[in-house]
Amino acid sequence: MLVVIIQCDDVVKRCSGFLCMRDFYERAGKFEGYPPETRYMSMTCGGCCGNITVKLENLAMRLRKEGISKDDVTFHFASCICSENAHRLPCPFMNRMKALLQHKGFGNIVLGTHISKKAEAKRQAGIYRKWE
Ligand code: SF4
Ligand code: SF4
Repeated sequence: MLVVIIQCDDVVKRCSGFLCMRDFYERAGKFEGYPPETRYMSMTCGGCCGNITVKLENLAMRLRKEGISKDDVTFHFASCICSENAHRLPCPFMNRMKALLQHKGFGNIVLGTHISKKAEAKRQAGIYRKWE
């Protein structure tokens, strides 16, 4: 099993991705339930407007050479892509990226990674948009 985190190319200029990594290893946030041997990697969307096609083709080639089935891969859109947060509004191209993933045969897609308590409180208070 391989988890692939897609990060916003804009946000990673300001964020190291530490909390996504930590929550993966702690199986917190949207990573609950993965078996212990699950591996993970992260990559950025490649920039607006989310044209990750070339990266997906490269990944598919690597998986094929390693004998890893696409069914054993789960993509997570980082929470800063799919929810309003301290960095930005949700990505306007997320559904396009989702469609590209599906078109390339990657059907396991999860929305979210690290769940910020502060952002959740702001959602509850109506300051941030509800989770999409
Ligand atoms: S969800 Fe948070 S930690 Fe993960 S990439 Fe986005 S801003 Fe960084
Ligand atoms: S396409 Fe979305 S995720 Fe990628 S850089 Fe633009 S806003 Fe960020």
